[in-house]
Amino acid sequence: MRERVGTCMGCGSEVYCLGGFLNGISKEGKLFCFECSEAADLIESNEKRMQNQHIESSRKYLQTNSEN
Ligand SMILES: [Zn+2]
Repeated sequence: MRERVGTCMGCGSEVYCLGGFLNGISKEGKLFCFECSEAADLIESNEKRMQNQHIESSRKYLQTNSEN
């Protein structure tokens, strides 16, 4: 069973669902093939790292404030 799910947001190639297994990755409503999802993962992990740092500093800020 091969069902066309949509096109990759990165390269525009078609992404299929093969017997329940997606031939790519669906992220936040966007569809990527494996190749592009790997590239997106690299970007995302960088963004997440930055976000985590931001969350970390926010948490410290909240902690120091709640101690008062
Ligand atoms: Zn792609």
